[in-house]
Amino acid sequence: MNKTHLLGLSQDELVSLLQELGQPAFRGRQVFAALHNRRLSSFAEMTDLPNALRSKLDQQATASTLTLESRYISTDGTRRYLMKTHDGLPVETVFIPEDRRDTICFSSQSGCPLQCSFCLTAQLGLLRNLTAGEIVEQIVIALNDAYGAGSQTPHGTNLVGMGAGEPFLAFEPLMKALRIMSDPSGLHIVPSRVTISTAGIVPRILELATIPDRPHLAVSLAAPTDELRDQLMPVNKKWPLEKLLAACKQFENSLKPGERFTFEYVMLADVNDSESHARQLANLLNRYQLRAKVNLIPHNPAAPLPYLPSSAQTVEKFRRILEAKGVPAFVRRPRGSDIYAACGQLAARGAEKLAAAPS
Ligand code: SF4
Repeated sequence: MNKTHLLGLSQDELVSLLQELGQPAFRGRQVFAALHNRRLSSFAEMTDLPNALRSKLDQQATASTLTLESRYISTDGTRRYLMKTHDGLPVETVFIPEDRRDTICFSSQSGCPLQCSFCLTAQLGLLRNLTAGEIVEQIVIALNDAYGAGSQTPHGTNLVGMGAGEPFLAFEPLMKALRIMSDPSGLHIVPSRVTISTAGIVPRILELATIPDRPHLAVSLAAPTDELRDQLMPVNKKWPLEKLLAACKQFENSLKPGERFTFEYVMLADVNDSESHARQLANLLNRYQLRAKVNLIPHNPAAPLPYLPSSAQTVEKFRRILEAKGVPAFVRRPRGSDIYAACGQLAARGAEKLAAAPS
């Protein structure tokens, strides 16, 4: 694509670009606010800009490169969006309305190169990393669908980088997107409102720890031993548990007072959910004395994945064992599983088996 995607530019970069077009600095700030604060997706809507500037921008730049293909609405209000990039690749985003603050789960890659055996996205393989602009635009599209363009949202927004892809393999565009979204004259979603989930890319965990204004970290564990984790998350062969937890221990130095970081543990029936797995997990985390909590995530079954979810009683028993061994543990309520919007279910599924919501 030859046109510059303006959502991928910081405010300073946008000011410079407008200056190159012979415009004063305030015009750059005006366009930035129109894109990110008012969430306008075309220059035609920016009626406070001179006509000549709007058509110049139209020739050289674009405010939108993603196309919304389908939207699915769950009985619990969760919305899943299937979008396409300009080169025809799938991007999925999930909007989860909550009483006080909405959560948007965004994707950092189209597909994913990691082969976690409990995840549908893995079956797509890696199509490509998303750009910073494509990451930001997912949030703009979701907010506009929920609240309309040009209006303030009634709630704050949390972001979770838990959609398709391994965020730390798209580290640069991801970090740039987060910086752009934290701008107070734009979306103003500060890093403390953002959680990035990794399958365990150790060098990036260490790098994240050195970034002063960093998002929260969540690490997907899925198994308490290397033997089992090698099978469920092959990335473990490169960075086994000992290396991963040592990196987490180092990351702990960057935690703010009161902050903990999160381990996610998908619960697969008769695979990783026994009492002895719970004890092994607690012992592992206690050995490293990590200031962490564990989120237990009931698996969301989806053909052709070969797993079933653990029963509610099993999950609760597992949680109690962790708690009894001093590891804070919580059960995450699945959202949007009826529309394939829940964890591990994003695989660019179309309308089959689903009722597409009227748009
Ligand atoms: S769970 Fe995450 S890291 Fe693993 S294959 Fe799926 S999208 Fe990739």
